[in-house]
Parts: sequence; structure tokens; C-alpha cells
Amino acid sequence: MSSSSLPDPWVRPAAAVPSGVAGTGGLVDRHGRVATDLRVSLTDRCNLRCTYCMPPEGLDWLPKVEVLTDEEIVRLVRIGVEELGIREVRFTGGEPLLRPGLVGIVAATTALRPRPEVSLTTNSIGLARVAPALAAAGLDRINCSLDTVDPVRFKQLTHRDRLDDVLAGLAAAQAAGLTPVKVNAVLMRGMNEDDAVPLLDFCLEHGYQLRFIEQMPLDAHHAWTRGQMVTAEDILERLSAAHTLTPDTEDRGSAPAERWLVDGGPATVGVIASVTRSFCGACDRTRLTADGQIRNCLFAREESDLRTAMRAGATDAELADRWRIATLAKLPGHGIDDPSFLQPSRPMSAIGG
Ligand code: SAM
Ligand code: SF4
Repeated sequence: MSSSSLPDPWVRPAAAVPSGVAGTGGLVDRHGRVATDLRVSLTDRCNLRCTYCMPPEGLDWLPKVEVLTDEEIVRLVRIGVEELGIREVRFTGGEPLLRPGLVGIVAATTALRPRPEVSLTTNSIGLARVAPALAAAGLDRINCSLDTVDPVRFKQLTHRDRLDDVLAGLAAAQAAGLTPVKVNAVLMRGMNEDDAVPLLDFCLEHGYQLRFIEQMPLDAHHAWTRGQMVTAEDILERLSAAHTLTPDTEDRGSAPAERWLVDGGPATVGVIASVTRSFCGACDRTRLTADGQIRNCLFAREESDLRTAMRAGATDAELADRWRIATLAKLPGHGIDDPSFLQPSRPMSAIGG
């Protein structure tokens, strides 16, 4: 496919930096929220085709020349940490394990001061091989995505017969000390909604921490509908049929998952109700795409182009200013329930989930 078959334009560019607003300090928006958690997409490519994320035929991948180099990524992360108050960095994608320089990028990030917490979201294919190197590079936490433990259904959901690789990756992460291994699951009606309990049982058995994520309108083919979504309430009802859930009263802070103790604890299960109980008011995130665009929200329709500025010779201070200005314009909420809501043209895999 050529990139011209994508919706055009993917995004509207954010306004240029107005003169006289150069600043210092962190990433504060007009609603008083402060972004301290940076999500970095390392690639838009992936070796799975999860139904809620990517079409079976794949997407138009970003041209290589537009993708940030390892050095460019580390520079922007350093500016985030040193100049803008970023305290947590999560690498994601696409599939971040497809990025050859991943371990070096993680090591360079954990060497920054003040040292940020560094984590990774991955589909776990190839993790069995690289988990020890990631742990040695200082990775603090890992989230592995897994929507079913049934091999036939895994293949239906992802269009790839790779469940064994994923399970080996989870075990390797645990063996490498990347604990607690967190598992992310998305349920789709008529597909894998009855996997809720088997997934929880599997995670309880292996000591993994399971979190369900409500499906969001970020699929490439814009097929999401609210009516078809498996809600947090549906998920809790299913889990409660097999386990006793009691609310975990520990302060949630800005963490998106609401947690429940399973059968009295200490094991917990989380539900990220991004759609039905949105947590935008406590959002502390900012995002960098693999092609060097700052997004102040998953659902943003505007981006700020740091790549072009960086390649044109912008200084650290100028890049930091662009990032601050991009943050100021962050909307108060995702607006999914608003009749005027428009799904962003970039799918989740190209934004970085
Ligand atoms: N490839 C890696 C993975 O799957 O973990 C990292 C990128 S993926 C986009 C990050 C997370 O976003 C995964 O846990 C995935 O299940 C979730 N995700 C993708 N599309 C989603 C959607 N439409 N709604 C909710 N979560 C979604
Ligand atoms: Fe790939 Fe992750 Fe999207 Fe699945 S959710 S297609 S693993 S990027």
C-alpha cells in the first residue's frame, strides 16, 4: 500500500510556536494537569494483527526516513526528563521488540538523571530471547498483552499462530525479575468476552497481574461502536461469577486501573475503564510517536512536529518550548460520548498505546 491511501491528512499540525512564550518548567496544560509520564512509540510496525488494532493486511508503515533514529529518540527523552519533569518513560509501539536498538535505548534512558521509571508494553513475541538484556539495561516494569489463552482463538484474534511465543515471553520476563509481570487484555463482544475468567485463572496461577482495558475507538478501520464494546461492568460481572472481588482501597493516584482484590487477595485484577469511567481529569501523560510528533492525548487531532524542528537544528530549549506549547492545548477530556467526537486518523499502533 502506498501512504497516499491513508486518510489525508492524518492529523492537523499544531500551531507554530508563538514568539515570546518560551518558558521553563514542566508540561502543564490549561486545565492544570501536569504531564510527567511519557509514552514513546518506537515503531508503528507489528508482527501481530490484533482485530481491535490493525487490519489483517497491515498498514502503510512509516517511511524509514521519517522514523526517529535511536539517537533522536534518546535526545527527546533526555529533554523530557532533564527539562520538562518527565518521571516515567514507557516504550511501546507498534511492537517495540521489533526495534533493533531497544536495549540500548532502555539503557540510555535508565542512565538519565533524575532517573525515570522505565517500562515497556509489548506483545511478548521475542521476549524470551531479550528479557535478560532488558532487565540488565535497567527496565523496571513490563506489560504484556494477551487477550486469550486459547491457541485457536489467539490465532483468530491476532491472525498469527504465536500463543506459545507469547507465553514463553511472559515466563522469561518473570524469570528475568521483571516483576510483577502485568498482563493487558482487551475483550471484544462475540470474540473473546468469555475469556475473562480463563485469563484471570491463568494469571493467578502464574503470579501475573491482570488488567482489562476497555476497547477504545482507535482501530485502523474505524469499526468501533459503543454498543459493541465490552464494558468494565460486563467484565466485572463475568469475573464475579467465578471469583469474589472486593475493591482495593489503596490510593489509585493517576493510575488508570481500578483494582479489585481477588478472593480476598493478595492477588488483584484491574479494569481500565477508559470509555465508561474516563480518568482524563487525572491524566499525566504525553506521547511521542515513532516519527517524532508530540501528542498531548491518545485522541488528539493535532500533533506537534519535533522531528522536523530537530533535524532543522533546533536547540534543546527550543524543542522543550514546542513540547510545552503542545501540552497547553490539551483538551479536558477525550469526548468519546460527544456527538461531535471524531476518531483520530492515526490508529493505536501508530500512536503508541
Ligand atoms: N504491541 C504492543 C502490545 O500489544 O502490547 C504495544 C502496543 S499496543 C498498541 C499497546 C496496548 O494497546 C496493548 O495492550 C493493546 O491491547 C492495546 N490496544 C490496542 N488497540 C486498542 C484499542 N482499540 N482499545 C484498547 N486498547 C487497545
Ligand atoms: Fe500489534 Fe500491539 Fe496492535 Fe496487537 S495491539 S496489533 S500487538 S500493536
